[in-house]
Amino acid sequence: MAKKLNRCSFCGRSENDVSLMLNGLDGFICSDCVEMAHQVVNETLKKGRGASDYDATAPVKRPAEIKAKLDEYVIGQDEAKVALSVAVYNHYKRLRQQALSGKTDDDGVEIEKSNIIMVGSTGTGKTLLARTIAKMLDVPFTIVDATVLTEAGYVGEDVESILSRLLQAADYDQPRAERGIVFIDEIDKIARKGDNPSITRDVSGEGVQQGLLKLLEGSIVNVPPKGGRKHPDQDYVHMDTRNILFICGGAFDGIERKIAQRMNTHTVGYNNVAARHNIDSKNLLKYIQPQDLKSFGLIPELIGRLPALTYLQPLDREALRNILTVPKNSLIRQQKKLFSMDGVNLEFESEALEVMVDKAMERNLGARGLRGIVESVMMDLQFSTPGTDCDKLLITADYVREQLAKSEVL
Ligand code: ADP
Repeated sequence: MAKKLNRCSFCGRSENDVSLMLNGLDGFICSDCVEMAHQVVNETLKKGRGASDYDATAPVKRPAEIKAKLDEYVIGQDEAKVALSVAVYNHYKRLRQQALSGKTDDDGVEIEKSNIIMVGSTGTGKTLLARTIAKMLDVPFTIVDATVLTEAGYVGEDVESILSRLLQAADYDQPRAERGIVFIDEIDKIARKGDNPSITRDVSGEGVQQGLLKLLEGSIVNVPPKGGRKHPDQDYVHMDTRNILFICGGAFDGIERKIAQRMNTHTVGYNNVAARHNIDSKNLLKYIQPQDLKSFGLIPELIGRLPALTYLQPLDREALRNILTVPKNSLIRQQKKLFSMDGVNLEFESEALEVMVDKAMERNLGARGLRGIVESVMMDLQFSTPGTDCDKLLITADYVREQLAKSEVL
């Protein structure tokens, strides 16, 4: 009599048709079904984790707590920190309101989204602020450069690719991505050229601003999950952008002129008024108003969707000096850490730090310049120290000068 073949209790195939059959108490499972089950378990757990690690009803961090956290990483920029803390606080209060009572409270008041725009020259901490907020809130975060975006149908990336990146940052966990933060850098580069609406196509300016509107205001957007260009036979993910916080940043070079113009035209005799109201003419950015963004070339609809407007100060000498050593992950702390991993105790003479700051001021690249300076000063030692029996290094001012002079010749 022929032996009865064992069959997989899941797919029904017999042991002759599969590479391995495992038996349990009451049935069998083939190796293919084991693999499939493994995948399903992984995906389900991942999704489950994403959806459950956020509790919209949990208490929201207070603005002062948010600012205190920002203080640990970002030097100065108090006005921007306060504006950001309040905007983020309101954003999460809004999510909480939705979670607790559906769309609106009984009183019918629905809190609107508070996207943010930060104006300030390069290297003053715009990206760092946005990144720190995202890290603190433990939400997916992505940075996009507005200059790569073009109007649909032209060479470049569609605005929807912004959401593809957020989805990637969230490991394709859509509910998590839908509560993430997007930082759109160089938003000033998509300003309309000239103050008049263009008659010719402006594919990388006004058209992109129009495209951004629907993302910023909150709607369902068809997103190509892998990014790039949209094309007809692709599957789309339908993402809801209502709870995504958009933070925009830009240097807006020359916007001070627009601010001065506005203040001048609104007041008879700017100089008199400046003197009377104690106007700080060296830092006109602090008087920035939405209409200045309009004069610069952002369309009013876009400005309207970025209600929280704030600015960052240019970094002075003292700020640069602090940036070197004070933040939790300051450049000097990072170097010390790198060397301590090789068993080397690294110290800097105070004057050595001053020389680096002088050089950063000279290069006029804000804190961005500092990093390059520290790297070039430390490069030779980073190369030659590992593997030697050196356990202590003191960086002197002369050594810094020497290294900087060397890097400048190259
Ligand atoms: P931005 O986006 O304004 O051009 P970033 O935030 O990218 O500038 O800053 C570049 C680098 O300079 C950051 O990685 C950070 O290390 C440093 N940096 C800039 N501003 C500050 C600041 N206010 N406090 C601490 N570090 C800063």
